[in-house]
Amino acid sequence: MTSSTESGQPVVTCQFLGASGTVTGSKYLLNIDGRNVLVDAGMFQGEKRWRLKNWDNFIPPARKITDILVTHAHADHVAYIPALVKQGFRGRIWATRGTIELAEIVLRDAGHLQLQDAKFAKRGGYSKHEEPLPLFTPDDVEVALSYFVPVDFDEDVDLDGFTARWVRAGHILGSASIHLDIAGMTVLFSGDLGRDEPPLLIPRSAPPHADWVIMESTYGDREHETPEPAHETMAKAIRETAERGGKVLMPAFAIDRTEAVLHQIVMMIREGRIPSLPVFVDSPMGLKALDVYRDFADSELREDIDVDDFTGIPQLTEARTQDASKRINHFKHSCIIVTSSGMLEGGRALHHLERLLPDEKNCVIITGYQAQGTRGRKLIDGAKNLKMHGWYVPVRAQVVQDREFSAHAGQRELVRWVAQTQPEGGQPHAVFLTHGEPLAAEALYDQIDEQLGWNVAIPQYGEKVALSPSPDERLADD
Ligand SMILES: [Zn+2]
Repeated sequence: MTSSTESGQPVVTCQFLGASGTVTGSKYLLNIDGRNVLVDAGMFQGEKRWRLKNWDNFIPPARKITDILVTHAHADHVAYIPALVKQGFRGRIWATRGTIELAEIVLRDAGHLQLQDAKFAKRGGYSKHEEPLPLFTPDDVEVALSYFVPVDFDEDVDLDGFTARWVRAGHILGSASIHLDIAGMTVLFSGDLGRDEPPLLIPRSAPPHADWVIMESTYGDREHETPEPAHETMAKAIRETAERGGKVLMPAFAIDRTEAVLHQIVMMIREGRIPSLPVFVDSPMGLKALDVYRDFADSELREDIDVDDFTGIPQLTEARTQDASKRINHFKHSCIIVTSSGMLEGGRALHHLERLLPDEKNCVIITGYQAQGTRGRKLIDGAKNLKMHGWYVPVRAQVVQDREFSAHAGQRELVRWVAQTQPEGGQPHAVFLTHGEPLAAEALYDQIDEQLGWNVAIPQYGEKVALSPSPDERLADD
């Protein structure tokens, strides 16, 4: 059915199987002359209507996918891989070395959560199934990990019939945009794009030229604030909490945010903006990620950053065991506790919240995006109490939000990035906007349309488009 055209050009289609209409579940299925290649295989998270799609029958059958190309190790880009293995995927998974190290942490955690959720559903009796099944098991995770093949940045990787190149994206350690050359036709997947100047990572490279661009739009409707001095909300909250003898709780996403928060603490202590308090890192996943950031300091971090810049805290405790975590409870003095989960939906953060929230001396500093319905969002919205472990904990502690931590490019940075895909002028055949809430994608659509006058489209979930060597006439017409 699908075969080369008379000109010898392969017939290529791209189907949007995730991150379309939402920010999670990134999955792009390329069909190249009948061969199926997946770019990212993320899990849907958040709203139930999206989460249920994790159970959709995958088209085509997983065993007919030959390769998965991975942009970075966030769960919404990799955590569906073990589900594909369970369904019969036996191909190769290509990713940078840093991504492979982090994916190991993320996938093992996901396997553990799947088992937990299935057990919970069984106990709660709310599953439709007699025996609620996990989407995949820790065994599927181990098989998936054995399929990974490392690639280097900026090297062409020959994938029998096309080449792929991973280009730095500066979003989290190992993150990349993926550039494909299919018989001279080029396709660029942005992956998640970092800020122009990430605090720790080597900044993203200029993207290579591409005929077709598939790009994220998470912050397509927003610019980042950059107040002077940086992170003063955080510094002020720490100073004031220390003055009244309280403790500071900083929930942070395990990967990259933990390191960025520690880096800010180091800077603030060095500059004398906050007192040199004891700092506890209490997050098993956060600590594993911290090890990867240490190990990859030479190849992934900015030249002016060394490990001391995010771990050089005079009184730093890495709570690697449950006992070490419990000992934090008995600590009597002012301190900073960096923990996860970042949206306060689970993990050790809950135990600390339970103890710290009822006392007005303490402070919670929110450091990341908080999705609707999460405890983190409720705290920001001024909740008077928070349900945890079956009871309501009164919120008397101070709650502040530091909005300056973000690992995603803002609107201006996104437009500049896509403009760089055409260094010689001209325009791509089309730009497809994905990985954004509808309003964010539409705002970025308008900006690219107004500033560059290019063909832009916002694909729907499941939509399939033909990628041809010459511009799509339908798109070129208007
Ligand atoms: Zn990401």
